[in-house]
Amino acid sequence: MKILLYILIFLFGTIIGSFLNVVIYRTPRKESIVYPPSHCPKCEHELNAIDLMPILSYILLKGRCRYCKEKISIRYPVVETLTGILFLIIYYKFGLDFKAFSYIFLASLLISISFIDMEHKIIPNKIIIAGFIGGIIFRMLMYNYGFMDYIIGLLLGGGILLLISLISGGEMGGGDIKLMALIGLFVGWKLTIVTLFLSVVIGALAGAILVALKIKGRKDYISFAPYISLAWLISILYGYEILNFYIKLIRG
Ligand SMILES: [Zn+2]
Repeated sequence: MKILLYILIFLFGTIIGSFLNVVIYRTPRKESIVYPPSHCPKCEHELNAIDLMPILSYILLKGRCRYCKEKISIRYPVVETLTGILFLIIYYKFGLDFKAFSYIFLASLLISISFIDMEHKIIPNKIIIAGFIGGIIFRMLMYNYGFMDYIIGLLLGGGILLLISLISGGEMGGGDIKLMALIGLFVGWKLTIVTLFLSVVIGALAGAILVALKIKGRKDYISFAPYISLAWLISILYGYEILNFYIKLIRG
């Protein structure tokens, strides 16, 4: 029975991922995410169930629009699979309680934000605002986890990145600052510190690799949201172990 639940959660993730694809495509273009119904961006033919099955449609249609044969972006099945896997990981680690739901919600926002940041070099305020509204609702539902811890997380996350931005002369975008504050609201101050630390390490490493492979130039914009998101994931999975290891290390 357990395996059935895993399959269901993965499928649920791919369906949400399919919706995230709509968010990723439409939000930066200032289009509504509910209307009009999904259509091919090239021939504008409205898509029906056969075209909209997560992952499967892409495979069955061999990555092309059924009507005009225009290539469909690989982003569609990638986002769907990634969302399915992330939901599975969160379920595996946290079960099915408010905390798990709050992380599923945040993971969905982070996937949308990361892909938009990579493609358009922006983090839409609309998604950040949706995140803060969701975050406040989760904090009220999860009042037994306390409140201050998360407010401090918010201030710390946003504050430290703001400081880095001021020191580095604006290399850190405003979107990244808001994003880190949002994560703080969901994870509390301890995991905020771990997330900050890991995102700087991952960002520096990835930046160096991208420049070394000549994929990016030294002066090119490098999206930071995907690294922050990856750092968040590692933090919620292993954050306290990392923190304890570090504390032992400095205590000798
Ligand atoms: Zn088409």
